[in-house]
Amino acid sequence: MTEQEFDVAIVGGGMVGAALALALSREGFTVTVLEARHPELRWPDEGFDLRVSALTRASQHLLDNLGVWTAIVADRATAYRQMHVWDRAGFGEIHFDAADIAEPDLGHIVENRVIVRALWQALERSEVVCCAPVKVRRLMHEEDGIEVQLDDRRRIHTRLLVAADGARSQVRELVGIESRSEPYDQHALVATVHAEHGNQETAWQRFMQDGPLALLPMRRDLFSIVWSNRPDEAERLAALDELAFNDQLTEASESRLGRLSVCSDRAVFPLRLQHAAEYVRPGIALVGDAAHVIHPLAGQGVNLGFLDAAALVDAVRAGRDARRDIGELRVLRRYERSRKGHNTATQLAMDGFKHLFSNDRPALALVRNLGLGVAGRIGPLRRQFERVALGHGIELPSLSRPRW
Ligand SMILES: Cc1cc2nc3c(=O)[nH]c(=O)nc-3n(C[C@H](O)[C@H](O)[C@H](O)COP(=O)(O)OP(=O)(O)OC[C@H]3O[C@@H](n4cnc5c(N)ncnc54)[C@H](O)[C@@H]3O)c2cc1C
Repeated sequence: MTEQEFDVAIVGGGMVGAALALALSREGFTVTVLEARHPELRWPDEGFDLRVSALTRASQHLLDNLGVWTAIVADRATAYRQMHVWDRAGFGEIHFDAADIAEPDLGHIVENRVIVRALWQALERSEVVCCAPVKVRRLMHEEDGIEVQLDDRRRIHTRLLVAADGARSQVRELVGIESRSEPYDQHALVATVHAEHGNQETAWQRFMQDGPLALLPMRRDLFSIVWSNRPDEAERLAALDELAFNDQLTEASESRLGRLSVCSDRAVFPLRLQHAAEYVRPGIALVGDAAHVIHPLAGQGVNLGFLDAAALVDAVRAGRDARRDIGELRVLRRYERSRKGHNTATQLAMDGFKHLFSNDRPALALVRNLGLGVAGRIGPLRRQFERVALGHGIELPSLSRPRW
């Protein structure tokens, strides 16, 4: 049986876990990543990942500070300069333009696999020990950390164990941290589609009674769609033949981009609201979807996860500078304090949006249309929307700030 020691063991090498591993290693900590599935690092040139992320400026800075942004852009990333949001039943519309706030763009749409590949390639060049495929079998608290027993019979001793293993976090379960979880009565259908009028470097979102339809620009004439709907309706749309699906999608978009035609498989994801009761325990921290899952309507999930990773790095660095053990609760609480409130506020805002827009009562329709109309005209409100898109508006952890 092999035994190894690390400062930090991270379970889950998805976008958040891989970014955190790279960041902590650059701070001089010894790090291992324990990942259940080796990520896909090669694929044919044609075709797109159905899972994409709308990255905020703060996430771009983090990836840039980790030295992977150039590789992501060289691979495939689409900047969007405008955003257009409108409502199904009324006249509420809101339009954002990067030029109005003297920004080059409002963010980037990137395939998840492109982000993961850039991070894993950087991990391969780093001191991080990546183990995949591997699974945790047992966790044991020790006096000076945690012992992690793996299914390949290895044992790892670590001062800090981080759960970055996604919404169904095994680590969260093993340590007995409760997570409030409620299904949204919506499933998201994702696909890549061709638009007759091109993408106009614009992210489009139309709110409808059963859920929002988001069209995220991918290339000149392509979009990645996230179409949230009642579960039965999402399944019905996924099973339609292409012609019928294209008709319904084009109608749902009010033909604003001309005819839309699907050019990929369609996949359906059930949507849940989830939030862990605690982010930290002695020797343990939860980050990313292991800590919180939100509705994808504002594309904030992985952006919040990257902020978690950056805040945890700040907390652990401060702990080390103060000559404390990095697994000490006092050190980890700084991380929890800096992230839990912001994640809760974002979840509540998305939840409020979802309820406001999926309700047909005339009073709410009026509020909605006034809301979009007014927000579209009043400067401060518009700027608040823009700050969310760019990931501004909170005190950012060091890694999420621009490199000077
Ligand atoms: C339809 C849809 C659209 C979305 N669009 C956006 C968007 O535009 N912008 C945005 O910011 N977010 C978006 N999100 C949310 C975003 O995808 C997630 O927030 C993000 O993937 C979370 O990253 P993560 O690294 O925390 O978890 P994950 O991506 O779930 O990664 C977890 C990793 O842990 C591994 N793992 C799991 N269990 C174990 C185990 N027991 N042991 C070891 N390893 C394990 C997995 O293999 C995986 O590699 C969207 C989500 C959905 C469903």
